[in-house]
Amino acid sequence: SKRWGRAAAVLRDLEERCAAPPARLRQVADAVAVEMHAGLASEGGSKLGMIISYVDSLPSGQEKGLFYALDLGGTNFRVLRVQLGGKEGRVVKQECEEISIPTHLMTGTSHELFDFIAAALAKFVASEGEDFHLPDGRQRELGFTFSFPVKQSSIASGTLIKWTKGFSIDGTVGEDVVAELSRALDCQGLDMKVTALVNDTIGTLAGGRYDDNDVVAAVILGTGTNAAYVERANAIPKWHGLLPKSGDMVINMEWGNFRSTHLPLTEFDQALDAESLNPGEQIYEKLISGMYLGEIVRRVLLKMTQEASLFGDDIPPKLKIPFILTTPHMSMMHHDRSPDLRTVGAEMRDILGIQSTSLKARRLVVAVCDIVAKRGARLAAAGILGILKKLGRDIPGSDKQRTVIAIDGGLYEHYTVFSETLESTLRDMLGEEVSSSVVIKLANDGSGIGAALLAAAHSQYL
Ligand code: ADP
Ligand code: MG
Repeated sequence: SKRWGRAAAVLRDLEERCAAPPARLRQVADAVAVEMHAGLASEGGSKLGMIISYVDSLPSGQEKGLFYALDLGGTNFRVLRVQLGGKEGRVVKQECEEISIPTHLMTGTSHELFDFIAAALAKFVASEGEDFHLPDGRQRELGFTFSFPVKQSSIASGTLIKWTKGFSIDGTVGEDVVAELSRALDCQGLDMKVTALVNDTIGTLAGGRYDDNDVVAAVILGTGTNAAYVERANAIPKWHGLLPKSGDMVINMEWGNFRSTHLPLTEFDQALDAESLNPGEQIYEKLISGMYLGEIVRRVLLKMTQEASLFGDDIPPKLKIPFILTTPHMSMMHHDRSPDLRTVGAEMRDILGIQSTSLKARRLVVAVCDIVAKRGARLAAAGILGILKKLGRDIPGSDKQRTVIAIDGGLYEHYTVFSETLESTLRDMLGEEVSSSVVIKLANDGSGIGAALLAAAHSQYL
């Protein structure tokens, strides 16, 4: 019928506009590498922040003692304590707790947010068991993973550049987030010192390196997306400080803000961006990350119902609600292997209030998920290729050196089509010989341990 013809036309158009064939991915990867150079050359020289992290050495394995980590940067925050036992003992014991952030705090005041976090941390510390041991007279030390763009001024201080990922809090931009947290900790009567301020990419890189010496970069694919990698300090023209002993400097790329004319953008992406909390920013993130993929799908489905009455004559009112279709919902539907796409039908009913859907409509829904997820995964692979290019590890080396990329985040961990597409795309782009020495490793919550390890490495008692 005419209706299906129109729906199929919307789908075909989407597929064309989302296409990311190898030639285009190479252009994206080249653009990433070019922007990396530009961002390292001068402050504000690129859409990529290429932020100097002040982390000039990664964990060695010698770290010892009781340390804490606090991870803030998405819908949840995590607190962690870890007893480190040095070269032999490694991670003796660790405990972690995850607390969801009430949504009103994401757009409230800075004080309220930090007070809430500090209170949770105080409670966590109060529940400490006997097997964690803080030597007498010592202050507790914390690695603070704060996964928003921060201009670092030292290893343990930095000011917020902007909020992302649905956070929008007045009066924090330009403030030192460690000072904010420390104030809140004081208010709680918690005697704890922040000795390292990092973000999730740097935490993951540190945690990844602790596990595997060949880790050179970390990528986050969760609510948002970002990457960090180890650069040679003398390849950072904008760094005017002393050259670190190691010769290395970890760079927080803030790659979520990458954009390029080579990115395949659709009318749906443009509308999503225009209506977002941060229009014009984080364009790459809006194509790739968990906060947005489901929302892109919703927008496509809405258009299909408007143009082709996909779900009957009326437009289901819930389909008009932004962000109602989350990426976990999308991946549930996408992974539906039942012949009648039962899960898709159930999600359409439970999430969107559409009582009955035809098999044909369900198939279209899956096809939309497929296009949107694979575009994101392929673009993420192109970003990784860009880093490998910058490091000169995209071509066969003489030394057969292993290159390991640590990846963390709920999107990568749980969305199988996404992770498999990313890996196969990267393999195809690199070719057989190079990809045999490039390893992608899931670093499941390596960021928490990583932050604690960096807190240990920068302890006031060393
Ligand atoms: P954050 O990035 O907020 O620190 P996570 O790394 O745990 O936290 O990632 C959470 C994000 O991962 C969610 O916002 C969601 O977008 C995505 N995600 C979680 N579970 C799934 C899933 N089953 N399928 C697809 N995406 C998921
Ligand atoms: Mg996270």
